[in-house]
Amino acid sequence: MTSDSSIYDELGVPRVVNAAGTKTRIGGSLIRPEAVEAMSRAAEGFARISDLQARASELITDCTGAEAGYVASGAAAAMTLGTAACIAGDDVAAMDRLPDTEGRPDEVIMPRTHRTGYDHAIRAAGATIVDVGTNDPHLGTGSAAIEPWEIETAITEDTAAIAYLQKEYTTPPLSKVVEIAHRHDIPVLVDAAAEVPPKANLTRFIDAGVDLVVFSGGKAIRGPQSTGILAGRADLIESAAFQHLDMHAAAEVWDPPRDLLDPSAYDGVPRQGIGRTLKVGKEELVGLIRALELFLEEDQDELVAEWTDRTALLDAELTDVDTLSCETVGGGKVDVAPALHVTVDEDAAGMTAAELVLALRRENPRVFVGADALADATFVLNPMCLTDDEAQYVAERIRENLS
Ligand SMILES: *Cc1c(COP(=O)(O)O)cnc(C)c1O
Repeated sequence: MTSDSSIYDELGVPRVVNAAGTKTRIGGSLIRPEAVEAMSRAAEGFARISDLQARASELITDCTGAEAGYVASGAAAAMTLGTAACIAGDDVAAMDRLPDTEGRPDEVIMPRTHRTGYDHAIRAAGATIVDVGTNDPHLGTGSAAIEPWEIETAITEDTAAIAYLQKEYTTPPLSKVVEIAHRHDIPVLVDAAAEVPPKANLTRFIDAGVDLVVFSGGKAIRGPQSTGILAGRADLIESAAFQHLDMHAAAEVWDPPRDLLDPSAYDGVPRQGIGRTLKVGKEELVGLIRALELFLEEDQDELVAEWTDRTALLDAELTDVDTLSCETVGGGKVDVAPALHVTVDEDAAGMTAAELVLALRRENPRVFVGADALADATFVLNPMCLTDDEAQYVAERIRENLS
């Protein structure tokens, strides 16, 4: 292992060597050094948060094609804010009541197969999620998980939004959902937290006509971990801003940037909104702006080539371990980063893949590998968050634990 002393060592906290990819529970991605530098410079002085949000909105608008953009403390936070905007709209009293939604539409329709643990972020705004569709594809009968009419017939006067999780497996096509939603004047909120790269996905959802989309700032964009992007309709972003910005202001001198919100439409200053708990500081805002600029300039092909080489290195390091079989998966346009799927011959190894993965986590530094396929005796090595030295350490600890 390189670098003998880190801040984590200094604090007595075990370091993690990350062969699992951009996973929040082990710190997400490595923030870009230029973003750290920008944050440190931001820490040298003050700026009005609303001005920084307006500046971030400009950049988000440029790169997503949305009418406006906003930054909250993660993609999950952006989902809460987006939901709060869909529920309260421009009704200041309703904003004030959230998460009590009395008098406002508060149902968010979601295809069952789009549900994830992150849905709590939607419910946190006061919404009730209305499940539609089934898990029928698993029955192997050929029937779909969700039919468009199931979404349409679930729409009532209580519907605040339709939420859509963007993944390879999610159906119906987003364009179909947008068409149905807009026929009923209902906004569509897309969770695309981990869908960049490819960079083209920054514009894809707005192009498809969605009203709001969220991206994580702390995954491949490599901004601060505690940032998430909300992009979409100007009126909804304005509502989000009202519900997120610190509102301890004197009405006579309350003068927020008009690009972000227009105080003239309101009689007085709203109270602290539901988003106040999701705040981002000036440093995070500056860090996210810088990171997003650099992400836009980044040569994706070069990165993919680097990841491909590192996956090959891991493969070469493990190829002569006779209790393991390795297969490189992905690396195409969809997966972007290739990964090495490593299957353990559990009988021959005298240990299960799960036992090996757990043992790796107990190393010092800890080694985290992808644990999504343990039931198939398989773990996954993701090259994105590793250096070559670290890849070697990972392979060495795997070999050592198996011997
Ligand atoms: C990572 C992720 C989130 C949460 O993003 P944060 O920026 O960590 O809040 C939400 N939804 C999906 C699908 C994700 O992958």
